[in-house]
Amino acid sequence: MMMRGQVRRPIATFVFGGIALVGLTVALDATWTSFTFSTWLLTIGAAFALCLVAVNAISIRGLRMRRTGISAEALFLDIPVGAPLFVVAGAPLATGVTLALVTGFALAALIRRGPAGAELMRHGIARTLVGLILIPLSEVYRPFSGPSPLVNGAFFALCLTVASICFVFFVSAPLASMVNGVRLTRVWSRIVRDVRFWVTAAGSIVWALIIWTVLREGHIVTAVAMWLPVVICAILLRRLEELRVENHRLMLVRDAVAAMLGSHDPLPQINAVVGTLHGPVADETLSIIAATHPRVEDWLIASTIGPPISPAGIDLRRRALARLKYASNDEVTLKDDFYVVHAYACRSPQDGELVGALVVHRRNESLSSDEHRQFVLGAQELTPLIVDLRMIATTRNAATTDALTGLANRGAIVDRLNKMLEAGGIAAGSVLLLDIDHFKRVNDNLGHAAGDEVLRRIAKIISASVREIDVAGRIGGEEFLVVMAGATRDIALTVGERLRLAVSLSGLRHADGDPITVSIGAASASVGDTPDTLLARSDLALYEAKNAGRNRLVENLAVS
Ligand code: GH3
Ligand code: MG
Ligand code: MG
Repeated sequence: MMMRGQVRRPIATFVFGGIALVGLTVALDATWTSFTFSTWLLTIGAAFALCLVAVNAISIRGLRMRRTGISAEALFLDIPVGAPLFVVAGAPLATGVTLALVTGFALAALIRRGPAGAELMRHGIARTLVGLILIPLSEVYRPFSGPSPLVNGAFFALCLTVASICFVFFVSAPLASMVNGVRLTRVWSRIVRDVRFWVTAAGSIVWALIIWTVLREGHIVTAVAMWLPVVICAILLRRLEELRVENHRLMLVRDAVAAMLGSHDPLPQINAVVGTLHGPVADETLSIIAATHPRVEDWLIASTIGPPISPAGIDLRRRALARLKYASNDEVTLKDDFYVVHAYACRSPQDGELVGALVVHRRNESLSSDEHRQFVLGAQELTPLIVDLRMIATTRNAATTDALTGLANRGAIVDRLNKMLEAGGIAAGSVLLLDIDHFKRVNDNLGHAAGDEVLRRIAKIISASVREIDVAGRIGGEEFLVVMAGATRDIALTVGERLRLAVSLSGLRHADGDPITVSIGAASASVGDTPDTLLARSDLALYEAKNAGRNRLVENLAVS
């Protein structure tokens, strides 16, 4: 399979690399007299390599410090490589280089419009800010130049430590706080707690020390040789990440071929199709989604390839899917600060029903028209497979769900109860058994359909009132069971009381205007309890609640 990822942005790289070179030459001309040929050569080489690396090579996941908004290349390359050069060159050249860089980045951003251009512009602004800090530094440093290169290097590295940290805290953090609407103190506290930040800062200081020392001793060739590995490492790391993604795809294809020989499960085939879709960048995530439920949030993620998506990215995907569903679009593109999300509809060829979608998450980068065509075709290829997958999921779902209320059915809730007791020992948890009071009256006076509606509404109230980890099910006609793993007596009684109140205040009424209520029996697992004894104890408590006048919660205490 061909790898195209590493040469995605050559034109922009060379265009603005070239512009930066021209700018540098002009700036150099102005300070020509104070310059030797070797520093001239080194400066041009360094600036060019810096541009090349910044634009093309480094956007390695993991090296980027997302939280602080500072990229690793700013600390690892700009400051340690740029700063000694600036100090050697003096303020006029430093100003020239900074201007050249910002012009180059702005032009490159113009050429590459859209999110990629915006990313370039951000790089440009970051570099200009670094430059603005380094220009005065290059002047301040001069008087301290001493005879020992090591002392010089140590002092300069110290200056850099202070400069980088000040930059992060007083320039980058306030900017991030303004852009993201987060309080500045929170941004600061995040930076302080970010180990990667301190490690990178320390690494950058060590680099500065080495480069500066070597530069002062005049070994230009050694200096170039010292920072070239950084560039090569960056390119290699990026390539490695791409190979890892590619390897993952190939493994999926292999698994799929193996599975297709004897299975009817469409998932391996889905993965095979996804495996053939070319993923051009390492930062891309593909997800295949089956429309298994009425609500977009509940749709089944059949397969995901690529790095995990952040909660904001998941929300963006949900919005894109909702657009496919409700606006009947075939493709939707949504963006936020971090992701560009492209969603492609998989529609049944017979009736155009939306059966699922292929969703691509990119980090701030749009698809090319080639890639776009490929994903449109991919979505079409996936459609019959997603139809199969949906059928399987629906059958599986039907086996455990109560059709009227959508809660777990009797089998599923009893299963859950068994699991709770198996896993939890004596502190396994508690159950609540609910029975609607005088439900027969609802059926008799308002009709069976109204009765069904009351069951659905009460099921909703139960789902909304219990804790997230609790499972509620319909165990019989108008009886519900809530299984609360790990819940003590107190928690069970609190939740039970909340439930009872929620139903009685819900506005549901009998024909004569009396509120519809529930009686609840609670029991907590104790030594020797089995699912049957625990259910029987909650049933006993429910019976007592009914006898005591209904609309109440009664607890069955374990006999110990
Ligand atoms: P109590 O307060 O003692 O619980 O009185 P009740 O009327 O609620 O108790 P009973 O067990 O006598 O009545 C339950 C009724 O629930 C009888 C049955 O027709 C009705 N029922 C059971 N399943 C459904 C259903 O799925 N839909 C509807 N509409 N009614 C149902
Ligand atoms: Mg009953
Ligand atoms: Mg009842």
